[in-house]
Amino acid sequence: MATNGETKEGQDGRHQEVGHKSLLQSDALYQYILETSVYPREPECMKELREVTAKHPWNIMTTSADEGQFLSMLIKLINAKNTMEIGVFTGYSLLATALALPDDGKILAMDINRENYEIGLPIIEKAGLAHKIDFREGPAMPVLDQMIEDGKYHGTYDFIFVDADKDNYINYHKRLIDLVKVGGLIGYDNTLWNGSVVTPPDAPMRKYVRYYRDFVLELNKALAADARIEICMLPVGDGITLCRRVS
Ligand code: SAM
Ligand code: CA
Repeated sequence: MATNGETKEGQDGRHQEVGHKSLLQSDALYQYILETSVYPREPECMKELREVTAKHPWNIMTTSADEGQFLSMLIKLINAKNTMEIGVFTGYSLLATALALPDDGKILAMDINRENYEIGLPIIEKAGLAHKIDFREGPAMPVLDQMIEDGKYHGTYDFIFVDADKDNYINYHKRLIDLVKVGGLIGYDNTLWNGSVVTPPDAPMRKYVRYYRDFVLELNKALAADARIEICMLPVGDGITLCRRVS
C-alpha cells in the first residue's frame, strides 16, 4: 500500500495535510500536482477559506484544492450559468463555483448546517460573490420535491454538484435528472468512497466508510445502467462521477 514516499511524507506531516484526499497510490505524486499546478494558481480567497477550514474539527469533509480547480475548469468549459450544490460545509466547492460563474450566474446551495456555511461566508462576501448564492438551510430533498412539483424548474440547471448524504444520492438522482438540462451535467462526489468500493466487505474500515459503502456501490451501478445519461467516473479527489443528461 504505502510507498516509501508516503511513509517519509507521513513523518514530516505533509501526508496529514487537510484536503489531502487523493486516491493516487503515491503521495509524492499528489503533492507534486498540488505544488506544481494547484497551489500556485489558487485564488487568494480560496486559499484563505482552505486555511480557515483546515482548523475545523470536521476538516476531512472539505473539497480538496485539486478538485476545486477541476470544478472551476469544468464550469467554465460548459459555460454554466444556473447551478446547484447539495452539501456546502464551509463552502470551498461553492466558492470555486461562484468564482467560475459569470457575474449573473446563480448557485442554489443547500445544507442542513448554516453554521459551517457562515465560516466561509465572510470570505465569499469579501470576494464580491455573495450575490450569486441562494443558500437554503435544511435538507435538500424537500426543496427538490417542491421544485419538481412546481414544474417551472424542469430542465433549467446547467450544472449540479452533489456532495452530501451518500445514502440519498439515488433519491437525489431521481429528481435531479428532471431538473438538469438536456446536455447539462450532474457531478456526484465521493463515488470511489475512500477506495472502499473495491475493499472486501470483511476488511477493516472506518464505521462511516462501512455504513455508506453499500449506498455508493448501488449508486455506481444505477448510474452505469441509466440510459438517460452519459457518464465518466474520474479519480479526482475521492472520485467524482460526471453525468451528462442526454434525454
Ligand atoms: N462541498 C463541501 C465543501 O466543498 O467543503 C463539502 C460538503 S460535506 C462533504 C457534506 C455536507 O452535506 C455537510 O456540510 C452536511 O451538513 C451536508 N448534508 C448532510 N445531509 C444533508 C441533507 N440531507 N441535505 C443537505 N445537506 C446535507
Ligand atoms: Ca466530497
